[in-house]
Amino acid sequence: MDDIGHYIGGRTVAPSGGRRQPVWNPATGAVARHVSLGNASDVALAVDAARAALPAWADTPPLRRARVMNAFLQLLNQHKDALAAIITAEHGKVFSDAQGEVMRGIDIVEFACGIPQLLKGDYTDQVSTGIDNWTMRQPLGIVAGVTPFNFPVMVPMWMFPVAIACGNCFILKPSERDPSPSLLMADLLKQAGLPDGVFNVVQGDKVVVDALLAHPDVKALSFVGSTPIAQHVYETGARHGKRVQALGGAKNHMVVMPDANLEQAVDALVGAAYGSAGERCMAVSVAVLVGDIADRIVPLLAERAVGLVVKNGMERDAEMGPLVSKEARDRVESYIESGVAEGATLVADGRGLSVPGHEQGFFTGGTLFDNVTPQMKIYREEIFGPVLSCVRVADFNAALDLVNAHEFGNGVACFTSDGNVAREFARRVEIGMVGINVPIPVPMAWHGFGGWKRSIFGDLHTYGEEGVRFYTRQKSVMQRWPASTPKGAEFVMPTSK
Ligand code: NAD
Repeated sequence: MDDIGHYIGGRTVAPSGGRRQPVWNPATGAVARHVSLGNASDVALAVDAARAALPAWADTPPLRRARVMNAFLQLLNQHKDALAAIITAEHGKVFSDAQGEVMRGIDIVEFACGIPQLLKGDYTDQVSTGIDNWTMRQPLGIVAGVTPFNFPVMVPMWMFPVAIACGNCFILKPSERDPSPSLLMADLLKQAGLPDGVFNVVQGDKVVVDALLAHPDVKALSFVGSTPIAQHVYETGARHGKRVQALGGAKNHMVVMPDANLEQAVDALVGAAYGSAGERCMAVSVAVLVGDIADRIVPLLAERAVGLVVKNGMERDAEMGPLVSKEARDRVESYIESGVAEGATLVADGRGLSVPGHEQGFFTGGTLFDNVTPQMKIYREEIFGPVLSCVRVADFNAALDLVNAHEFGNGVACFTSDGNVAREFARRVEIGMVGINVPIPVPMAWHGFGGWKRSIFGDLHTYGEEGVRFYTRQKSVMQRWPASTPKGAEFVMPTSK
């Protein structure tokens, strides 16, 4: 079987170097295919293709660009299950969850279909006698996106539909762990009528990312991944004069107040902690249990963690699939060891889970810790696996202080039946995305997504109107015509007359 290669200038392209790595099926533990790992020459080729396509695409009326997005939307709807199946095969998440991922990506394409309205500028008639002033937003040129393994369809779609609709050409560097969906998306874009060179894919790792960051013709880069790499990408990109938005890791808390609906809180915690095996940047990994709710909720959570249906994500009744790789599984299980060593109470232990018929798969079960303290490594660091840590606190203020003191600020939730508590929480919490009785508050396509603190580097959030601002620059035009132009040079600062 051929290696998974690049897509440049409207066709699949063989890599120029020989580096490659396996792509696994995490449920079976078998190597499914290999992916080419590109280099600076492959990036240069993609930039050349984008440069050739750029003038005509940037000049295409926004309404016609929107029509290409609309055709892409129809094709996505026809092929959404094929995309979801590839996600499950390479990532491991259960098929229904992969379908949800594709739908949340489709939301952004629907948003991008409205690009003529979004690019509308402001106009002021008569800023001074006979003078008008207006603003317009123009594309940046060639822009790039670097994406993580955990959403191989949705996260690229946070970026390229908006970037392309704005009139830019785009180079995607997908995760090398689940690279195949990128090529199906490229094919659908071509079928939708997107001109060759407007969307390109260069497969690879750090080598490709660093080449994109150093290339002078790449004007902006969107990154989503772990915090240390996000910081590296932001700093390196800024040094090269690029516009960068770099979204990083997370440690999302869910505060459960004593007046919360117990059953709803349990359902929310179980879904948000163990869905997608905890490999979501918005997964809840810390339950902050306020007052006497702790003794009531921990036994219910333990029962649900132990009872999770863990199997190959393609099986209909699977609630949780494997982790993405053997290394990821070993890393998660070593965090569990560290939690035990540091004195947390291990209530449910997912280590060493064997799924019948899939003994080589990268599975671990749902794990629950109680009596976790802020000093412990399992509290401080992002585990990115199905491990939920319960921290007990006395009251609302202690819960809020705990959340606000954490270095990450991606998502948070508060479960309560008190409107005033909910309101105060939403106003005072220092986190970018807040859920009130909603465990995973991922904003809709037109609201924009982004955390605070060390969960983001850069100013603008991804997609929504902030995404449109990120992929365009504002130009201000002031106009007057000879009939209203007085004679003689003016030497004073012009003011409104
Ligand atoms: P990762 O940081 O390992 O990789 C992300 C991307 O960076 C990949 O394309 C990878 O090839 C590239 N990369 C890896 N090492 C690099 C290096 N040294 N220099 C340059 N590029 C490099 O992240 P991951 O493991 O693929 O994804 C999981 C992480 O992503 C978690 O931390 C998760 O919280 C985060 N994430 C955040 C969000 C968000 O919106 N904030 C969304 C999804 C995932």
